[in-house]
This record gives sequence, C-alpha cells and structure tokens, in this order.
Amino acid sequence: MNEEKRRVVIIGGGITGLAAAYYLQKEKKEKNLDIEITLIEASNRLGGKIQTVRRDGYTIERGPDSFLARKLSAGRLVKEVGLEDQLVHNSTGQAYILLKGQLHPMPEGAVMGIPTKLLPFVTTGLFSPIGKMRAAADLILPASNNGGEDQSLGSFFRRRLGDEVVENLIEPLLSGIYAGDIDKLSLQATFPQFQQVEEKYRSLILGMKQTTPKQKPAPAQKKKGMFQTLRGGLQTLVDALEEKLDQVTILKAVKVDSIKKTEDQYSLSLSNGKTVQCDNVIVSTPHHATAGLIPGADYLAPLQQMSSTSVATIAMAFDESALKQDIDGTGFVVSRNNDYTITACTWTHKKWPHTTPKGKVILRCYVGRVGEEAIVDQSDEEIKKVVLDDLNKIMEVGAEPEFTIVTRWREAMPQYAVGHKKMLQKMNDRLSEEMPGVYLAGSSFEGVGLPDCIDSGEAAVKAVLNSIKN
Ligand code: FAD
Repeated sequence: MNEEKRRVVIIGGGITGLAAAYYLQKEKKEKNLDIEITLIEASNRLGGKIQTVRRDGYTIERGPDSFLARKLSAGRLVKEVGLEDQLVHNSTGQAYILLKGQLHPMPEGAVMGIPTKLLPFVTTGLFSPIGKMRAAADLILPASNNGGEDQSLGSFFRRRLGDEVVENLIEPLLSGIYAGDIDKLSLQATFPQFQQVEEKYRSLILGMKQTTPKQKPAPAQKKKGMFQTLRGGLQTLVDALEEKLDQVTILKAVKVDSIKKTEDQYSLSLSNGKTVQCDNVIVSTPHHATAGLIPGADYLAPLQQMSSTSVATIAMAFDESALKQDIDGTGFVVSRNNDYTITACTWTHKKWPHTTPKGKVILRCYVGRVGEEAIVDQSDEEIKKVVLDDLNKIMEVGAEPEFTIVTRWREAMPQYAVGHKKMLQKMNDRLSEEMPGVYLAGSSFEGVGLPDCIDSGEAAVKAVLNSIKN
C-alpha cells in the first residue's frame, strides 16, 4: 500500500454528496492525485430528495422540480456531465396569490414580494389602502439600528413594509422555499441580500428598484423563465453523475453509524458490520442524522435543536377536459389568511409543458408548513380528498384524477433560525479542532436550493484538498 494514499469518504448520496464526489474525482484525475474516494448512501438509490417518476408519458418530480438559473453551479454541473442539451427553462406566465379565497395576480415588479413598480402595487387587491400606505413608509423609514446583528425575516420585513404585505405576499412566497415560520427564520442565513440593500439604500423599495436587472424583451420574444430543469427530469442528473463516478467506490443501502477518531485517521462504523478507515470525511447527511454521527460531540448539539418542517407533494394527472375552469397562469401560493390546507399549486403542464402528454394536465400541490404539518401523516386517500376539495374551491375540477402521486417529506425542510450563521461558525470551529479533516455540507447549512447544495459540496472538496496540501 502506498503510504501517501489518502482515503476520503463522502457520507450521503444526495446532490451534495454526488457533487462532492464528482468534483473530488475530477481533481484526482486532472492532478493525478493518489486519493481513494468512497461514497456511502443509506438508501438503495442515489439522489436523496431528487426523485423523478416517469409514467404514461409524464415526467413527475416527487421532490425538487427545478433550480434557479442565476445560481450558476447547477447549470455548470449539468454541463460537466454532458446534459447541457437537456436543459429547459420554465415557461413564464401569471403567478397568483390565494388570499381570502380569491386568486390575485402577483403584482408586476414584486421581487420576493418587495414592490419595485408603483402602479401594479397601487392597484392590486392584495392589500388594503392602509396596508399600501404602511408599505410606502419604507420610503422614509431609517435603516435597522441593530448593529448588523441577525434578525428574523418577519421582524425585518414587518418593520419595513408592514404586516399586511408580509402576511399576504412575502410570507406565502417564502413559505414555498422553507415551509417555515417567517418570524423565526434568519434574515442573514436566508436572504442576506435584503439586509445589504437596506444598509446601502436604506429603503428596500428604492434599493430593489436600483439593483433588480431590467429585462426588456423584444415585443415578439417571450421572457425567459428564472428556473431550469432537465427534459427527462432531475433524476437524469443523478443518473449521469453516478455513471461518471468511475473512480469512486459507491456503497448503497449502507448507513454510516458513527465516525470515531483514531490515532491519525477516522474509523467509520457501518450498518453492515464493517468499518472503514479514512483520512477525510465529507458529511452531507441532513442535520438530524449528522448530529448523532460523532459520539460525544457536544458541539453538534445545536443540530439536534435545529428544526425541520414536514411537507408532502401531491401530483394529480387529469385529462384536460376535467378542468372546467382553466385559469391563465402557472400556479399560485396560498396565504395563511385562508381556510385552505394546500400551501401552493403549480400547473405543471403549463410551467413545464415537456412533462405532460398533449391533452393532459398535471396539478402539483404542496401541503404542510410550520404549524400545519399533521396533514402529512394522513393517508394518501385523505390527503387526495383534502387537496381536491381545496382545488375545487378555486377551479372547477370535474373528474377524479387519472392517477395521484403523494410523496411525504418528513422533517425535510431545514429551518435556519435567527443566529444560524453564528451557530454554524462556532460549530465548525470546534469541529475543525476536534476532528480536523471532517467537513459538514448540505442543505442544513448554507442554503437549501440545489445550487447551494452543489456549492457546499464543492466547498467541502476544496477543504479536503487544502488539508491534503498542508
Ligand atoms: P439529501 O437529498 O437529503 O441527501 C442526503 C442523503 O444522505 C440521503 O440520500 C440520505 O439517505 C443519506 N443519509 C442520511 N443518513 C445517512 C447515513 N447515516 N449514512 C449514509 N447516508 C445517509 N430545491 C431547489 O433548488 N429547487 C426546488 O424546486 C426544490 N424543491 C423542493 C421540494 C421538496 C418537496 C423538498 C423536500 C426540497 C426541495 N428543494 C428544492 C430543496 C432541495 O431538494 C434539497 O435541499 C436538496 O435536494 C438536499 O440535498 P442534500 O444532498 O443536501 O440532501
């Protein structure tokens, strides 16, 4: 055995672990590094939350359905594995907010709910005249005076724009990403750019007006969607990555039970009774799994306290004749000021036409968010009934779905609470003292979006390579 050989184990085969494995293998090949890479995944498949179902000509995502194109790492990874020609942008169309039983068009120019155009904001039925006047106070209010400390998204936006804009627009939009409690989520860990805008421009409305790129499409040209996916579903990225990992040992259906420090290495106990020795570990498991991996590591306790929300996605396929009242648009999110259980619905056949056979319709709904998670534990039949009842209040659905796919995601949406970044810094500092060469990555830490996860996998690879050099 070569004394110089480094052994690196990546725990978790979701997009974070796969990206880490891919980029580490790439470095190994390009720089001829003597590294042995092993990827260990607890379930019998790779991809984690990425799961595509292909059925009867439909392409249905059980988990994520796309990624933000402006965050470049996902598109870059797609190109690396040769799937560039499979990339598709979403079709743009009217998005709605469901408020008090009525669909309201998203006001034009609203960036994450912050108005940047006057007329659509003045004329929208989403806010009362008093709510609109309160939001306009943003134009004169001073910047937060909290010494750059973290605060909740709720307190930040409520102070700037008032409760109505927060509850009727910003909260439902953010809820689609975190399914969380806006009054507990950290501003700095989720949308630090808004704090920066306030610091620089004082007013959010004026600042967003300055900083939002103006898209001026030629009259005949349709605006390009902000999101991208792959023609055959996101699972094709997972499959392509798996195929490319020809110098990585992949263990599936094997769980890592613990990571222990030995004299100058780490010893991983596996659920199949074996142990693996290695020099570096990239841990890309969800935080509640990560918290229990290092016995006696009191500094990982904050991960145990960090909460996650459970949600479920419900994809329903219909013949287009079933929709008696077709609404022009791509979907809606639901304000909490409603008697509804669904939290969002995408008209997938319109937003992503390639996913649905001609003459058919896919409605993909979400249920579950902080304080409303019990629904996720209901039976498929019960969830289906609740979703259909809700849909029927808005659009006449005249038939039973041809099929329904319910997917439960228990404790799947990590909640970054106020102080998250400080907590992370402290934990990582201790980890690097106690377990040098072990790195945490994935959606629990620096962003839940697929590009954020890929970035965090790449950052962990850089850290491993640096530790090899030193
Ligand atoms: P995971 O995908 O959770 O992977 C972690 C892996 O670790 C799993 O495969 C698990 O089996 C494995 N594991 C756990 N414990 C062990 C152990 N002890 N040993 C070995 N393996 C272990 N993001 C977007 O950008 N766009 C979207 O449209 C979008 N929609 C979403 C919709 C839903 C319903 C959900 C739940 C999330 C969505 N997200 C979206 C977020 C995004 O999907 C996730 O943040 C991302 O997929 C997480 O990837 P990950 O690799 O960090 O974790």
